Amino acid sequence: MPDVLTHLKADVCVIGAGMVGLAHAIEARRRGFRVVVLERDSAAVGASVRNFGHLFFASQPDGPALSLALRSRERWLEVAGAAGLTLIPAGTLIVARAEDELAVLAAAAAAEPARRARLLTPIEAGRLAPLPIDGLSGALHSPLDLRVDPRTAVARLAHWLDRDPEVTLCWSTTLGAVSSGVVEGWTTDGARTRVQVTAPRVIVCPGPDYRTLAPELAAGLEPLTRCRLQMLRVGAPAGRRYAPALATGLSLIRYPAFADRPETAALRARLEAERPELIERGIHLLVTQLPDGDLIVGDSHTYADTLTAFGEETIDVLLLAEAARLLGVERLSVRERWLGVYPSVAAGSGGAGAPFRVTAPLGGVRVVENVAGIGMTLAMGFAAEVLNGVEAGG
Ligand SMILES: Cc1cc2nc3c(=O)[nH]c(=O)nc-3n(C[C@H](O)[C@H](O)[C@H](O)COP(=O)(O)OP(=O)(O)OC[C@H]3O[C@@H](n4cnc5c(N)ncnc54)[C@H](O)[C@@H]3O)c2cc1C
Repeated sequence: MPDVLTHLKADVCVIGAGMVGLAHAIEARRRGFRVVVLERDSAAVGASVRNFGHLFFASQPDGPALSLALRSRERWLEVAGAAGLTLIPAGTLIVARAEDELAVLAAAAAAEPARRARLLTPIEAGRLAPLPIDGLSGALHSPLDLRVDPRTAVARLAHWLDRDPEVTLCWSTTLGAVSSGVVEGWTTDGARTRVQVTAPRVIVCPGPDYRTLAPELAAGLEPLTRCRLQMLRVGAPAGRRYAPALATGLSLIRYPAFADRPETAALRARLEAERPELIERGIHLLVTQLPDGDLIVGDSHTYADTLTAFGEETIDVLLLAEAARLLGVERLSVRERWLGVYPSVAAGSGGAGAPFRVTAPLGGVRVVENVAGIGMTLAMGFAAEVLNGVEAGG
């Protein structure tokens, strides 16, 4: 261990400056707490910058999950205004190409009115985005969904927090041990200074790196697994602009607002029979536009405790074919490819279905992991629930 020691005091110490960690830091500041954030890297480079930037509130099922999503939306609006972050309020457009897809969309449109989702004719869908409408049977627009630029959003939030004199952001600082009230870490940028933070509340948000946590934070936990996603950045055909996030019937068997409906069983069975190459690889199509016009296209889902380092070309070929079909072009020109990883609940273990796993390994300490790949959407609202629990004295 290095000898030089930096000692900091805070009301809340957050580990991890991805979306989940920053959401907790922001919520802690809302409550007037002094905050220290420790982040292992010199900038967040995990799932929080590798995603679509799609705040898909309408993807959450009716009831408490949708309420959480809508509270998260309120927080996003409030924080974006204060932090000078652009939120694109264009919603999600999901197109249906078959009657079973339209049946799911119709059921979703008729469900909880708070979602404000509306069933559209193909012509109406074509007015929202320049898509070919031949072969569409309808579409659903959920106008409350928002979008951020995933490549800059968390950095901007961190920068905004950094300007607050009651926040100390410690980049290149890795978490070591935690005991109730004391966090030990060390810097990794050359000097290897020991950092000790005294804080009665500690929120650990390690993303998919849960296995690097000290034993006292992980003792007795059900194992998680990890999910790897393949993603692409492509040029927009003929420089077209697509305001809403775009999805197809494939997304209806993935997001719980649709996947959990009785109408979805028939669609799932058909897709499994007709498109096994997509279903086996967990492929569904989501397309969002970056501020410069390029499109983010994804994604696939491969689960393993130790993920291979290598992308599968077949997945990219399938994704590009689905995207080209949706956008009505022959081919798309790829500019970038990347992999994203998030933690996921292991098959057969408890907790499946809940978007977050929260554990309290020590008094005043919480480990918070988004295990459903929806942390950009929900973390802003969920952080309030976690801090309520810690403040209640657990
Ligand atoms: C490809 C992809 C697409 C997605 N699309 C969407 C989307 O459109 N909408 C949506 O809502 N969600 C989406 N998600 C999910 C969303 O991105 C994640 O749920 C969210 O970003 C998780 O945030 P996080 O802070 O938990 O994790 P991360 O962003 O991975 O951040 C964790 C941070 O903790 C730090 N850390 C870990 N261990 C330590 C340690 N010991 N000491 C110090 N620091 C540590 C890491 O360095 C990292 O910066 C997507 C995910 C992926 C992978």
